[in-house]
Amino acid sequence: MKKISITLILLSIFILTSCNIETKKKPIYIFLFIGDGMGLSHVALADAMTDEKLTMLTFPTTGSTTTFAEDRYITDSAAAGTALATGEKTSCGTISQDSSHTRNITTIAELAKQKGMKVGIVSSVSIDHATPACFYAHQKSRSQYYDIAKQMITSDFDYFGGGFAKGNREKYGPSDVVAKMDSAGYKIITTREELVSSNSEKIWAYNHTTDYSRALYYEIDRPEDHIKLSEFTKFGIDHLTNDKGFFMMVEGGRIDWASHGNDGASMVQDLIEFDNSIAEAVKFYNEHPDETLIIVTADHETGGLAMGNALTGYQSSYKLLNYQKISQDRFSDKVASWKKEKKVTYEMALDSIKVYFGLGDKDLNSGLELIEYETKLLKTAYDYSMTGESKMDKYDAYLMYGGGDPFSKMVVQTLNTKASIGWPTFAHTAYPVPVFAIGQGHEDFSGYYDNTDIFKKMVKNIK
Ligand SMILES: [Zn+2]
Repeated sequence: MKKISITLILLSIFILTSCNIETKKKPIYIFLFIGDGMGLSHVALADAMTDEKLTMLTFPTTGSTTTFAEDRYITDSAAAGTALATGEKTSCGTISQDSSHTRNITTIAELAKQKGMKVGIVSSVSIDHATPACFYAHQKSRSQYYDIAKQMITSDFDYFGGGFAKGNREKYGPSDVVAKMDSAGYKIITTREELVSSNSEKIWAYNHTTDYSRALYYEIDRPEDHIKLSEFTKFGIDHLTNDKGFFMMVEGGRIDWASHGNDGASMVQDLIEFDNSIAEAVKFYNEHPDETLIIVTADHETGGLAMGNALTGYQSSYKLLNYQKISQDRFSDKVASWKKEKKVTYEMALDSIKVYFGLGDKDLNSGLELIEYETKLLKTAYDYSMTGESKMDKYDAYLMYGGGDPFSKMVVQTLNTKASIGWPTFAHTAYPVPVFAIGQGHEDFSGYYDNTDIFKKMVKNIK
């Protein structure tokens, strides 16, 4: 009798534990945040410049991934976006197709849609750009902007938000995407007021104006009335929440662009706004902890950002970047107008960089004082910007100014150096990128693995 009851007890414990394993909940709300170009040093620099800890750095699981493409060790956003979205390697420039461009590869967003979940795609750069495109489009080239944008319509996804502007893409096809989306039933929203009050089924939201690149403005330059990335994200969460769940991809796309320009301060401001978007997802997670999974990663690193500089050695003065008030791009617009007007002397230019970058204002911070070496470099760059002529070797000029406006480049580089950071390249690098995860299934994302595994780990969690 005793034996039987012990067996019974053991059996019931076994049944209970195995039931427990089988009923372990799968998340139904999945967030994938992609910081474009965001290496670990980008995150660490932003963290060192702010007093509050970044949200992504509070996540319980961290990992790292390799990022190489099928045809190149240093990848681009199309091949890396395809790897994250589909779990397969492809060639640089390709949007969710194999490298022979004969096969479309199903994306995690499409899988989620097939499962009856809602889907949202958000980016701070144009919605037809490579990273967001990899989740809803299939094209042989990332520059087929018109063909990509048209696939937003057939995707039937529930929400698109972020950068976009009518026009400016005519050379890629007719500018009828907005009209086509409208007749496909998408409510088009271009202001904050409309955004908070809209309850249409399918929504496409972007700001009523953008800069030349059709992206959101750099956060450092953002006009007050423009919807920011965290607002597009929060709206998406409210809009997509339903019993069957959702998949949402949010890209911090201008982290990459600022890094291509080696513009440290603008990069950090965009990264912090990207982190604010993650904080919106964490608020949602706190209300649905058993049903939510949040993954944060990058597609590749950009700029080779170093938290050190040969000229500052062991000194670290990262917070000096906080004195920059305008992006390098916006400042170079000013320099272009100086060139046209021919009224701004070098002395006036020095006054201007005191206002916008704090450079030369030792009362503001002694670390901002300009030494003779720096004023010489700035003068050479100013002359080059104003005349368009230089006696420099073309390789030296490229290393110095990277093909951009010489004076703006030298101003930003001077502040970067004082702030003890450095950039060895204007392109992407092969550095592995970080992964941060929280929520149901987060443990799966620890370790060192490949970017294609992120897709596989997500699929395992939603299937
Ligand atoms: Zn890039």
